[in-house]
Amino acid sequence: MLSRRVNYFTESVIRDMTRLALKHEAINLAQGFPDFPAPQELKRAAASAIMDDYNQYSITWGAKDLREEISRKSSKYNHIEADPDSEVTVTCGSTEAMMAAMLALINDGDEVVVFEPFYENYGPDAAVSGAVPRFVPLNDDNSIDEEALAAAFNKKTRALILNTPNNPSGKVFSKEELRLIADLCVDYDVIAVTDEIYEYILYDNKKHISIGSFDEMTDRTITISGFSKTYSVTGWRIGYALAEKKLTSALRKVHDFLTVGAPAPLQHACVTALRFPDSYYKELVKMYDGKRKLLYNALTKAGFGCTMPEGAYYILADIPQGAGMDDMDFARHMVSEAGVAAVPGSSFYRSETGKRKLRFTFSKRDETLIEAARRLERAHTAWRN
Ligand code: GLN
Repeated sequence: MLSRRVNYFTESVIRDMTRLALKHEAINLAQGFPDFPAPQELKRAAASAIMDDYNQYSITWGAKDLREEISRKSSKYNHIEADPDSEVTVTCGSTEAMMAAMLALINDGDEVVVFEPFYENYGPDAAVSGAVPRFVPLNDDNSIDEEALAAAFNKKTRALILNTPNNPSGKVFSKEELRLIADLCVDYDVIAVTDEIYEYILYDNKKHISIGSFDEMTDRTITISGFSKTYSVTGWRIGYALAEKKLTSALRKVHDFLTVGAPAPLQHACVTALRFPDSYYKELVKMYDGKRKLLYNALTKAGFGCTMPEGAYYILADIPQGAGMDDMDFARHMVSEAGVAAVPGSSFYRSETGKRKLRFTFSKRDETLIEAARRLERAHTAWRN
């Protein structure tokens, strides 16, 4: 009775953990969304947009003033020149942009290269679009295994999914790594679909590089980003995709019939976001850097093995030694016994590696993180005894 494609994936484990956290009144370090308010100016802009009657459909591929502002931002920040009329599409979050990109590119059986660990959505994106994912595990230090990457490409490869800064690992891909990927994309005539939603959240002076800014990638990259993470408005569902004209027109067709368009008043408010001064982005990084250190110290104290992420707002941690549970059991145990929710590592891996890991987000108020730290430390004492 049901389609075969829905058998290939489950509902989001990340959102499942959120429901479990609510049930147990646990602190939710599972789902990556802020528990602090969005910028005041942005909230005012959204409220005014509604009162000023921006309440009907915008143009399906996005309000003109927003596309123009996105085009300016992408030129300045990403070094990507995208014509607002024919190369920018506003979507319902970057999640929709990813799915629309895949549906626009993939024929049944086409292969898609995906680095592991990967963001939970890419599996379902592949299943729904009919793609066969080819997972390429990163090395333990998050570097690329060049041989494994090259071996994943073949005549059937249609696309490569990239996510930098990376959710869940926090890896920020370097220029050299992106060059390697670009060379393979050119050699095998492959499109890079690149999810850059955490592009402003970078630590220790790391720089964000968009593979779409490389000359040879201009016509073979779909660059995706959005407003959720940079402006702390994950519930607004405003994202966008940049791609050359032909790719954009294919993606726009899918987008038009999937969603018609993103919420018009919120699109209008996002123009205000893109006009924030540079100091906004500096403050954002400073804030998340403090939270990163807070969570890192808390997890280390509680017996988790972890490394500092280079970007985004997650820590992918090894379950404390001696816990004697896999990721699913340990995640459930933590919610009910410690009162802290995290995401089981297997959501981000096809291999067994994920079973030893949990992902925690630090996109929360300091008070929330401090209370989580207290609970984890207390629970750790219990785990040890
Ligand atoms: N991107 C966020 C995360 O990784 C939210 C994802 C979701 O709701 N599935 O936690």
